Amino acid sequence: MQLTFKTIFTCILFFTLPIAKAQTVDNEKLLLHLEYLASDELKGRETLSEGNIAAQKYLVNYFSTLGLETHYPDFQQKFSFENRREKKTYQDAINVVGFIGGKSSRKLIVITAHYDHVGIGKKHSGDSIYNGADDNASGTATLLALAEYFSKNRPEHSMIFASLDAEEMGLQGAKALVLDFPFPLDQILVNVNMDMVSRNDEGEIYASGTHQNPNLKPILEKATNGLTPKLMFGHDLPNTGSDNWTQSSDHGAFYDKGVPHIYFGVEDHKDYHKPSDEFKNIQPEFFFNAANLILKSILALDRELPKE
Ligand SMILES: [Zn+2]
Repeated sequence: MQLTFKTIFTCILFFTLPIAKAQTVDNEKLLLHLEYLASDELKGRETLSEGNIAAQKYLVNYFSTLGLETHYPDFQQKFSFENRREKKTYQDAINVVGFIGGKSSRKLIVITAHYDHVGIGKKHSGDSIYNGADDNASGTATLLALAEYFSKNRPEHSMIFASLDAEEMGLQGAKALVLDFPFPLDQILVNVNMDMVSRNDEGEIYASGTHQNPNLKPILEKATNGLTPKLMFGHDLPNTGSDNWTQSSDHGAFYDKGVPHIYFGVEDHKDYHKPSDEFKNIQPEFFFNAANLILKSILALDRELPKE
């Protein structure tokens, strides 16, 4: 190639142009997080079980590696609760909670996903480990990937990343978090909760909660326009029974305290709460796209929600 003025100029331009940072999570790590959390080794992560404690350690280590701050000793918020049905008190269940201070606002975006599942149970086709790959290793893995993204790309608003325990026992970790929250609850602009985000045969994921928080809908519509999976709204109308997801996962505890919420999740599938909710049955492509859609949604909320 002859070095003409034009080629030299083009080369200089190429090497000096700022490389636009990709707004994506790390797909490879995302899948590795899910694979580990949903592995037989963790035996379904039932609250207070060995597998649940192994999951906690993984989360604490990861938050620590990312250099997140926290308001709790070693990222761990301990709590107790009573299970009325079993008439049993559970002690020392643990939420793993990290914090990133915002560039320009002390107002908070609280990102949540439960890491517990139902453990070992009734055998189905010879398998008794309820791995909870979609429910909710998927949301937990996404939370870790989001924490990593925002630890490298500081947000405008402060963010709390809360991996919650004992959701399967009645949103207990979320209830404990809102009762012992490090800031006044009215400092929270929105709770973004994720529970089951790794598969759907129709290529759809829901953002439930815009019925209660209609101001958030146009922000999410604009941020996700043209993306796959397709972002659906709904499952949040009063008096629609189980079709109303307002209390179906941890965001319910925030809703009860008057905190706005958006819940990302898919409709139930054939492996829901079965031993077959395992790694081999998630849809990696759907999962990558869903996690990145959630990232884009949070970036838009961070950009557009008030700073004061
Ligand atoms: Zn769940």
